[in-house]
Amino acid sequence: MPTALRCKCPRCGEGTLFKNLLEVRPACEKCGLDLTKVDVGDGAVVPVIMVLGAIIVILAFWVEFKYEPPLYVHAILWVAVTTPLAIFLMRVTKAALVIQQYRHRSSEMGL
Ligand SMILES: [Zn+2]
Repeated sequence: MPTALRCKCPRCGEGTLFKNLLEVRPACEKCGLDLTKVDVGDGAVVPVIMVLGAIIVILAFWVEFKYEPPLYVHAILWVAVTTPLAIFLMRVTKAALVIQQYRHRSSEMGL
């Protein structure tokens, strides 16, 4: 889990896993682990949509009933809150899935 939170390589725990926001590097920059066969599919997206979506909707209702702000406040607030949280959670979830694939299905990664 600490390796997933830091988005690091599943083998050495030092090289960065992503080459940009959500795209996995072809190989670890430190130990050279081949990451081209990593395939987590939509596994990182679905839980983030379900969990974060539910939390944001509940918070939006709470803010609406508690403070009754104008609609533009909701539009600005929830985009500003949801976007970075979604990206952070998708990175951590994707890193966790890559680590699980490395540990339990390493034959698919050619190891
Ligand atoms: Zn590595």
